[in-house]
Amino acid sequence: MSELRGLLAEVAARVADYRESVAEAPVFPDDTAGVREKLGALPETPAPPADVVRRLADAVEPALVASTGPRYFGFVTGGALDAATAADMLATGWDQPAFNMATSPAAAIVEEVAGEWLKDLLGLPPTASFGFVTGGQGANTVGLAAARHHVLAQAGWDVERRGLPGAPPLRVIAGEERHATIDRSLRLLGLGTDAVEPVRANAQGAIDVADLERVLDGPAIVCLQAGNVNSGAFDDFAAAIRIAHEHGAWVHVDGAFGLWAAASPAFRPLMAGVERADSWAVDGHKWLNVPYDSGYAFCAHPESHRAAMSMTAAYLTGQGDGGMRAPGDFVPESSRRARGFATWAAIGELGRTGIAEMVDRCCALARRFAERLEAIEGVTVVNDVVLNQVLVSFGAETDRVVEAVQRSGECWMGATTWHGQRLMRISLSNWTTTAADVDRGVAAVQAAWAAVASKG
Ligand SMILES: *Cc1c(COP(=O)(O)O)cnc(C)c1O
Repeated sequence: MSELRGLLAEVAARVADYRESVAEAPVFPDDTAGVREKLGALPETPAPPADVVRRLADAVEPALVASTGPRYFGFVTGGALDAATAADMLATGWDQPAFNMATSPAAAIVEEVAGEWLKDLLGLPPTASFGFVTGGQGANTVGLAAARHHVLAQAGWDVERRGLPGAPPLRVIAGEERHATIDRSLRLLGLGTDAVEPVRANAQGAIDVADLERVLDGPAIVCLQAGNVNSGAFDDFAAAIRIAHEHGAWVHVDGAFGLWAAASPAFRPLMAGVERADSWAVDGHKWLNVPYDSGYAFCAHPESHRAAMSMTAAYLTGQGDGGMRAPGDFVPESSRRARGFATWAAIGELGRTGIAEMVDRCCALARRFAERLEAIEGVTVVNDVVLNQVLVSFGAETDRVVEAVQRSGECWMGATTWHGQRLMRISLSNWTTTAADVDRGVAAVQAAWAAVASKG
């Protein structure tokens, strides 16, 4: 066996060992203190690749978080599917810069095929353009950049050429419970966070459509949300988009995880009308369970999407692309990872029915978690569990219970503040999680709650 072959076989075996044992590993590492020391000082001389990689893996494996495993309920975190993981390993080995047909026809064609599949699965318009980005943050930035172009172009201003100084004012209207990445995207786009005119949220964290109607007055960018990052709530898309469009506004939907509910026949009716928005942001690495980094920006106005993102340079003309789309024209990067391979493989592994089943199963497990926790005295679930998110109160002891659960290594979930209350936040987003994992999670929470309560 050649040295390279041996190295890659060893790494593949190591990845398999990790993934096959991750379900029983402590979910959070107890001791990360030794990692720096094991990584050592800056090497002065070359070393055999296998030694380098072995040292790296030995050093960091004890510090890994088992977030790809079945009892990681923190943030909104998927665990990569097997085919998607392997395809991403191929993407690394093939090392393709997925910029255009000249740099990698394979990457460009796979992105085109997978992008069409994604639109079909999510019920988005077949004519929408798409870009494969780093995640929800990247997708929100692309969607809002297209929006910025479009709304200002309608006001007679070419923002790509002239920038923002002297531009007509651009209103941004967003729910008060928007995800923090919306604000960062607005910062990056030069609009600034003060540009946001917040709209009230209802008791479940969805946008208050009456308040939106009150705020709207002509062209603007309206940010809606599919899946509140705390409660999982959806905005009322049919009503909100109709009102926004009556005012000539652009509607961007942040659906980082929640838009995947549109891939389930059971949930799609809850999101009726979402397909009439102007741009959408979706993650691959959350609910589709593709490895990091993976997200998708879709746009109902391909010319605005392209105008906001495309790159032109003398060396890019006449590359014989046969009219094919250049993936690099729809994202803010040029040399970039070939993200289509892992997405294509994830969709291939699950198929349309498998994706719907994964969404339905995660949501059913969220309801199971909520029901079992509510049966425990002194424990309250504070949100309507409409999707995969559960918010739990232990009164004044919430933070201490969350910390005790985290220390247990049995499972991991974080804390949040929602509507003025400290809460445990549980997310079910991983394809490997079973009812037995939920029950182990419930037992860990119950034990932590009992221990905290007994100490008073
Ligand atoms: C996670 C999330 C984002 C950001 O996505 P990243 O993939 O972390 O960049 C944006 N919006 C919502 C609602 C999210 O849950």
